[in-house]
Amino acid sequence: MRRPFNFSAGPAAMPEAVLQQAAAEMLDWQGSGMSVMEMSHRGKAFMSIIETTERDLRELLAVPANFRILFMQGGGLAENAIVPMNLSRGGVVDFVVTGSWSQKSAKEARKYATAKVVASNEADAHTRLPSPAEWQISADAQYVHICSNETINGVEFHELPDLKALGSEAPLVIDFSSHVASRPVDWSRVGLAFGGAQKNLGPAGLTLVVVHEDLLGHALAACPSAFDYKMVADNGSMYNTPPTYAIYMAGLTFQWLKRQTADSASGIAAIEQRNIAKAALLYDFIDGSQLYRNTVATGCRSRMNVPFFLRDESRNEAFLVGAQAAGLLQLKGHKSVGGMRASLYNAMPIEGVQALVNHMSDFEKTQA
Ligand SMILES: *Cc1c(COP(=O)(O)O)cnc(C)c1O
Repeated sequence: MRRPFNFSAGPAAMPEAVLQQAAAEMLDWQGSGMSVMEMSHRGKAFMSIIETTERDLRELLAVPANFRILFMQGGGLAENAIVPMNLSRGGVVDFVVTGSWSQKSAKEARKYATAKVVASNEADAHTRLPSPAEWQISADAQYVHICSNETINGVEFHELPDLKALGSEAPLVIDFSSHVASRPVDWSRVGLAFGGAQKNLGPAGLTLVVVHEDLLGHALAACPSAFDYKMVADNGSMYNTPPTYAIYMAGLTFQWLKRQTADSASGIAAIEQRNIAKAALLYDFIDGSQLYRNTVATGCRSRMNVPFFLRDESRNEAFLVGAQAAGLLQLKGHKSVGGMRASLYNAMPIEGVQALVNHMSDFEKTQA
C-alpha cells in the first residue's frame, strides 16, 4: 500500500526512496559498523559524507566557485539575526516586505542594524509582488533582503531582481527556505542565500547558507563565533559539531535529485519543469472551479506553496476530514491566513497533486 500524500509546509515530506535508504543504512552505514548518528564528525566516514553532499549541491544548483556553501544550525529565523550580524556592519539594510517571512526578517534585523522597508505589498494583503523598479533602495544599503518564496502567503519571485540594473551595488540576500532546489538560481544576482532544510532538502536541524566569498569577514564584534560566516567557512562547517544526520539526509536527497535528472542534461531545470507542471495542475483546477479560489496575482503565484480557500468557509473542516480519509495529509492553511495550503515540494509526485485535485472535485460535487 502506498503511503498517504503529505502536503505539509514544513517539516515536509521527503522522497520515499531517501527514507528507505536511510532505514537500510540506519544500523550500519556502508560497512562502518556505525549509524551516521554515531560517527565522529571529523572521522573519515563522515568527512566523505559531507564532502559528497557539498559537491552534489554545488553541481545541482550550479553554485559558482567563488561562493562558499555553509552547513549551519538555527533555521531560517536564526539567519534573520545572523545575516545582519555578518553583513550589516551596523549600518543600513533594506528589506522588501512581501509576506510573513520577510516581515519577520526586517523586524529581527532592527536589533543589529538600521533596517528600512523599501517596498511592501502589505496594502495588497501580500497577494502580489512590488515591482523592483519601484523599490526605494538606500544609497548606503549594506544589502537588500527579499524572501524569494513566501511560504505562508504563496507568492514567489519568478525572476530575482537585478540590483545593479536598478543602480545599486548592494548585494542581494535571499531567503530561499521554501523553494531551494525547486528551480535554478541566478547566482549573478545573489550575494547570499539561506534556507532551512526542512522544506525541500531534508529534515529540520540543518540550515544551508550559500555566500559570496567577498562578504565573509565583516561580522560585528558581538557575533557568536559559531555564527560568524568566516569562521564557519574557514572550518569547513566544522567550527562546532554540525548537524551530521541532517546533512547526511540532505545528501541522500541530493543523490535522489541527481538520479531524477540523470537522463537530462539540464539538471535542476528538469526538476523545475516537473514543479511547473504540478503547480499548473492545481492552479488550473482552482481557477476553473466554483468552490475554490486562490487570491494571489497570477504572475506571482508560488509553485511550492498554494494557499486556497473554500468560498463557504464553514465547510473547511469537512473538506479536511475528507482529505485525510482520502490519504491527503496536512492541508490546513497557516493560522494567519486560514483556509487550506498545499505544499508541492520536490518530494510530492504529480500523482499526489492529481489525487488532491480529484478530492477537491469530488468534494465540490457534494456541495451543490
Ligand atoms: C520555514 C521558513 C523559515 C523559518 O525557518 P525555521 O527553520 O523555522 O527557523 C524562514 N523563512 C521561510 C521562507 C520559511 O519558509
